[in-house]
Amino acid sequence: MPPVGPDVLVIGAGPSGSVVAAMLAKRGYQVLVMERQHFPRFSIGESLLAYSTQVLLEAGLLDAVLAGGFQFKNGATFVCDDEYSEFNFANKFSAGASFTFQVVRSEFDHLLAKEAERCGATVRYGVEITAVTTGASPEVTVKTETGEVEVHRPRFVLDASGFGRTLARLLELEKPSDFPVRAARFAHVKDGIVAGDFDRQKIRIGINPTHRDVWSWLIPFPNGNSSLGIVATREHLARYTGTAEEQYWAMIADEPKLRALLENAHTVRPVGEIVGYAANVKTLHGPGFALLGNAAEFLDPVFSSGVTIALHSAKLAADLLDRQFRGEAVNWQQEFAEPLMFGIETFRTFVTGWYDGSLQDVIFYPDKEPQIHRMICSVLAGYAWDPANPYTGPVSARRLRALAATCRAASARRAEAAGPS
Ligand code: FAD
Repeated sequence: MPPVGPDVLVIGAGPSGSVVAAMLAKRGYQVLVMERQHFPRFSIGESLLAYSTQVLLEAGLLDAVLAGGFQFKNGATFVCDDEYSEFNFANKFSAGASFTFQVVRSEFDHLLAKEAERCGATVRYGVEITAVTTGASPEVTVKTETGEVEVHRPRFVLDASGFGRTLARLLELEKPSDFPVRAARFAHVKDGIVAGDFDRQKIRIGINPTHRDVWSWLIPFPNGNSSLGIVATREHLARYTGTAEEQYWAMIADEPKLRALLENAHTVRPVGEIVGYAANVKTLHGPGFALLGNAAEFLDPVFSSGVTIALHSAKLAADLLDRQFRGEAVNWQQEFAEPLMFGIETFRTFVTGWYDGSLQDVIFYPDKEPQIHRMICSVLAGYAWDPANPYTGPVSARRLRALAATCRAASARRAEAAGPS
């Protein structure tokens, strides 16, 4: 009996799920998106990278996002006490969009899900995937909120379930991340920042001057609110006592420049916490399925790479499935996993360099050679898949280490020449 069901069943209506659904539905495929929650719903991950604008443009979704009225973003600032460094995405090395958005995710994700429907996909809410068998004829078991069980037989399953990690759990694909366990505490605040004190078109990444692996994000929205979060190891967090809100503000107070900027701020959303978010999998694909976005791998929030990786994986998967459905032979390892991992390796290099201090030395080095600044800026703008940039892919770790050593040596020479202060 031929399979009964959609061409593609997508698990989850986050950015990767909605974008892949929109792309495939536009090409005439029957796409069914199954989302456990009801939208709008809160999600962390509010600062996008410029490359994600490029994917939204290619998916035909950029006009809708522009109409959404989200905060424009054109770069990032890094602050550690008196050290300050600014990256403007317009200076990036790679071609492509140089602006992006800072988004309240409940609104952004809902907008993308509605766009997927407008393109022809069916999106169902309040339905949870509970079992999946893969192979040439996948079977997906779904539980509704009223307890009914449905079985769907799509031609292909795309897992876009993010931190739900549905297929990783159900198919035992989980692999521990090699990053140490860190935690993020976050809230939305009415920031009370005086106009002119801060460029609201940039994410601000602040570094605790005495613990340089402890850092904060400040992501402004257009309505005077900001997303404000702190990331630290569990050991560091254990130093703080009191309520979640008291601990949160105490951590912010440990970064004096941030405390001064936010002297009039107060929370407008309860403080939340996510612990141990780094995740990995044994494989990104198998017979009849592939993993997108966070359902596959998550590194660290520091460079806001999550949604960008999610959108790039959606784009790769949509193109490959289209070819596969048209009868072409597709090699998911060579044409999906390996190209996707190229950019993930770039971000891995940057995250590792951030926490071992080498990337911070590069970022704050005042006399960066302009072309190198453009290359680093390009990765920070999300163009992590550009093979023409020497700081991308598997070679990026070696090159970044060499660059950091050069910056450190030059800084030491400069300090020596300046003599004792
Ligand atoms: P998600 O956005 O997680 O969407 C998955 C959807 O699947 C959800 O709606 C969920 O309800 C649904 N689902 C889950 N399980 C099931 C199931 N079994 N059945 C049906 N539906 C299911 N990224 C950035 O780009 N910028 C940032 O500034 C940023 N900051 C971050 C800060 C922190 C502290 C953390 C932890 C992450 C941050 N991220 C950031 C990462 C970002 O949150 C994710 O990368 C992004 O949301 C991934 O999108 P996705 O589409 O893969 O999954």
